[in-house]
Amino acid sequence: MSVHHQPKGSMCMSCSNGSAACGQRDFGSMPVIQVYSDCVKAVKCSGHRASAPARRCISCDAAAPAQLEEGQGLPCGH
Ligand SMILES: [Zn+2]
Repeated sequence: MSVHHQPKGSMCMSCSNGSAACGQRDFGSMPVIQVYSDCVKAVKCSGHRASAPARRCISCDAAAPAQLEEGQGLPCGH
């Protein structure tokens, strides 16, 4: 029975790279977070990049920069 390593699903869910981006990574060399009963080991993916929380204009729902200076307007003009 072979041991299978995979990135922890919750990490992929929040990863800005998406699961496709780390398909070729060597998960066997990453720290194991959790071992499941079917010999699957969930590892801490070294390629994980937390995606920036999506900020949007409350008026028109246009994408807004993550950082806004005090008093600075949004690109959409609101
Ligand atoms: Zn707006």
